[in-house]
Formats: sequence, C-alpha cells, structure tokens
Amino acid sequence: MRLEPELRLSRVTELTPERLSELGVRGLLLDLDNTLLPPKDAGPLPEEVRRWAEGLKAHGIRLALVTNAKPHRVRWAAAALGVPGAGPVAKPLPFGFLWGLKVLGLPKDEVLAVGDQVFTDLLGARLLGLRFALVEPLAEDALPHTRWLRGLEQRYRKGGNSMKGKPSEGGET
Ligand SMILES: [Mg+2]
Repeated sequence: MRLEPELRLSRVTELTPERLSELGVRGLLLDLDNTLLPPKDAGPLPEEVRRWAEGLKAHGIRLALVTNAKPHRVRWAAAALGVPGAGPVAKPLPFGFLWGLKVLGLPKDEVLAVGDQVFTDLLGARLLGLRFALVEPLAEDALPHTRWLRGLEQRYRKGGNSMKGKPSEGGET
C-alpha cells in the first residue's frame, strides 16, 4: 500500500465544483481541525469555508464531516455547515469513513476524503481504498503526540514529491 495522496492542496477551498467534476468526485468526507479551520478555534466558521461548502452543495456535491474532534465541536461544525458529521471517529480506524460512505450514498470511487494528517486521515482513507486529498495544515498543533506525528510527516512530505496526474509539479512548492 502506497501512502500517497491523489491530490496535494494548500487550502481545501481549492476543491472547486469544476475541479471535482473533472475528477469525477460527487462527495467529500471532510476532516475538521486544520483542514476546515484552525484547531480549537471557538469563533464562527470562516466565511470563506462556509461559502465554499455552500457552493459545493449548490452544485450537488455531498459533504460529510468525519473527524477525530470532540463531539461538541463536531456538532457545532456540522450545524454551521449544514452537513452530517461524525466524531470522534478514531481515524485511521475505518468506522468513520464507513459511516461517511453510507451517509453520502455514493460509490466509493466518486468520493474523495480530505484531511491534513498523513497517519490518521490519509492512512485511514487508504486502508479502505478511498481516494484522498492532503491539505496543508492551517495551524501547528500544540498536542505532543500530534507534534511527534508532524515530525514524521515532514520527513514523509519531503520524501514524497510526486503528484499523481500532475507530473509537472514535482518537488516542494
Ligand atoms: Mg485534521
């Protein structure tokens, strides 16, 4: 199993309806912290993210939150986005993504999982054979175990310079 994302993104908002259509994607399973907003952010959902989600929904793209965040944050974010959400789901274990696939009601190959962490989000998606987009984390985490994973990820990101379908964009940017 190769731990390589199908896409690498700076921001989740790069996933426009047009781009998703080109990719044949009709549903997203979204991570929350560091993917949609900075972790522990108690403020309102960023307007840019809210509008992005509304735009996708208006184009018939189905969205669900699959996150390791605490229940109150999951409920808050799901309500703010107007999408179903589950968490904490202990990614990379498969239960959250399996729930998400069921909720979206789409074939697996039309679903893209999106997240910022290699060893929870990407690994969990790959264990189920899900397509995956890796986004740059919005903020550094303060949790020791996350910092430790980030260290491993840095090494991984430096080693992985290929971008599937975009051979001209190799190397670090
Ligand atoms: Mg995250």
